[in-house]
Amino acid sequence: MKSYHMDWDEFRTAGKELIDWIADYHEQIESRPVKSQVRPGDIHAALPNDPPETGEQWPVILKDVERHILPGVTHWQSPNFFAFFPANTSGPSILGELLSAGLAVQGMLWETSPACTELETHVLDWLVGMLGLPDRFRGNGVIQDSASSASLCAILAARERAIGDLPAGDYHEAFGRLRAYATSQTHSSVEKGARIAGLNVEQIRRIDVDENYAMIPESLAEAIRADRKAGYIPFFVCATVGTTSSTAIDPVERIAEQCAGDRPPWLHVDAALAGTAAVCEEFRALQRGVERADSYCFNPHKWMFTNFDCDCFYVADRGALLKALSILPEYLRNRATESDSVIDYRDWQIPLGRRFRALKLWFVIRHYGVEGIRYHVRRHVELARSFADWVRSDDEFELLTEPSLNLVCFRHRDGDRKTEAIEHAVNDSGRAYLTHTKLGERYTLRLSVGQTSTEYEHVERVWRLLKEAAAAV
Ligand SMILES: *Cc1c(COP(=O)(O)O)cnc(C)c1O
Repeated sequence: MKSYHMDWDEFRTAGKELIDWIADYHEQIESRPVKSQVRPGDIHAALPNDPPETGEQWPVILKDVERHILPGVTHWQSPNFFAFFPANTSGPSILGELLSAGLAVQGMLWETSPACTELETHVLDWLVGMLGLPDRFRGNGVIQDSASSASLCAILAARERAIGDLPAGDYHEAFGRLRAYATSQTHSSVEKGARIAGLNVEQIRRIDVDENYAMIPESLAEAIRADRKAGYIPFFVCATVGTTSSTAIDPVERIAEQCAGDRPPWLHVDAALAGTAAVCEEFRALQRGVERADSYCFNPHKWMFTNFDCDCFYVADRGALLKALSILPEYLRNRATESDSVIDYRDWQIPLGRRFRALKLWFVIRHYGVEGIRYHVRRHVELARSFADWVRSDDEFELLTEPSLNLVCFRHRDGDRKTEAIEHAVNDSGRAYLTHTKLGERYTLRLSVGQTSTEYEHVERVWRLLKEAAAAV
């Protein structure tokens, strides 16, 4: 009888081959164009219309990865990748991901795999110490798939705290009076989360930013005061440590002061990229005030050598979050849950099911040690600063902001059209990849330094490419 399964001997052979393939891929990654050069539909057109009726051999499948898939891959792990924010990875992270797939547990409850829950809480507690986060986050961390999900959970917990105790009729009336506060620079996921939570755009106030694109706390105070006076319910404030556009730093401490008082709005701190920097003592000042936040998140899947998806989300007091998200149908009842002595992470997130994501983070921290992570973060910041120095002393390019960490925002002095043409020329060359934003209506290039293997030579080369492009376009 044919079983159709891949037997474990075949798996051993194929698996070792795939590990070799991945190692070769990383070693030779610089030989490929960083940004995929395919056109829409190319990949689809190269694939057979119908699935195979009869199973195929592993070597044939792997060949097709090289032939049909790789051309359509943008090489995020290339040291010449400077676009968006990094989504870096590393050997220990890949191995953790592999082990997670190998064990393939579903950790919705403590009961469904105790280690999946306890390792997660444990590693997130390590990070509290590593990043200088407040002690009240200990035991209150959870891994979400993304910062977007973390924001949504924060908004739902905030809504629960503000109006969750009201009887149904009052609840709906009060819901319409909820107001959330962010800036024009807040990540789009906060607006998306608010919309998913049922708010309309008018319930989201945009607070003014200063010349560095950071929230002005006095404007926040003014908006909250005016809204309260008008009968609205300020229930949620998002402060960002390291905005996506330009790594602007909202002054968390002064924002927290504006939130304080009777029935304070929930303060969520989104440090998706920049949170990792706090592993270095000298960058901790950027998050000053985080000890007053109700919730906080950062993404190891951006800058901490841990592949997507892995967002660490902390709450100061888990009560409102659990109240917003707990469910207990009969088929999930079990003695551990009833004993109240365990965490059931299904109550800390939107989906029920969850992967064993703590493994990759645990592997990364154990492999590098805190000092290894600190070393690379410092190195990336140094590289970005070198690049910023070259821009500063150049007569063609100029900085739009002083870089706070590893992102440099700059443009060509001749303006938007020229700047955009340079961006396309560099990206089309396949030798580096960077993206843009708009700051004060100006087309702005972003050089984001954070890939695992990016070194001085790569940053120097992209600078040369930019100068050559400026002369050519
Ligand atoms: C990248 C980013 C996000 C979104 O991250 P996901 O994990 O992809 O949802 C949210 N906030 C900030 C500040 C970011 O830079």
